[in-house]
Amino acid sequence: MTDLKAVAKVFGAYMEERFDCAVVAKESAPEMDAIATGFDLARFFGATGVAKGDDFKSRFTTTVGSRIYMPKPHRDDPLLFIEILTHECQHVLQFQESGLKFAWLYLAEAEARVKYEADAYAAGLAVERWLTGHTDDNKIEWVVDALVSSYHLRAEDASLAEKMLKSHYVSIKNGIVMSKAGREAISWLETNHPELKRA
Ligand SMILES: [Zn+2]
Repeated sequence: MTDLKAVAKVFGAYMEERFDCAVVAKESAPEMDAIATGFDLARFFGATGVAKGDDFKSRFTTTVGSRIYMPKPHRDDPLLFIEILTHECQHVLQFQESGLKFAWLYLAEAEARVKYEADAYAAGLAVERWLTGHTDDNKIEWVVDALVSSYHLRAEDASLAEKMLKSHYVSIKNGIVMSKAGREAISWLETNHPELKRA
């Protein structure tokens, strides 16, 4: 049987090179302490995932530009690692494509944030489906709830998020992956570990 942990490691190295980014241990990054203790978030361009204190450091992966700050529980679970890394690589790409505009829109405009997050979740979910064979429709609700509580979305932004995620789901179920990081991840898996495919 294929060792998923070993696969995740090589996959991680590939994605880091492909998207010109780095996975950093969040618990030992001093700049994350600064954020966790309430340092001005807006100064960190492209920060994704906003929470508080310990939660922020142990439960959420945060991408700032091309640095992906990932807590240990996310790094240690190979399936979670692959899914989250793919999601975060989509954010890295968004930042590379529109730089400061991305950072600004992400922080200031709920609608833009919803679109960026929907694309990133779609990337992660596509890989999850490839590896596990299932797409859980309840997950859309879960993602929308997470977005609403993290970002204080208005009702219309939440329904936009739901609409976008549903349309991504329809594509994913038809084997079409709209998010670039999701396509890259799946094409690497197809090439290197076709035996892992469940969907
Ligand atoms: Zn995200």
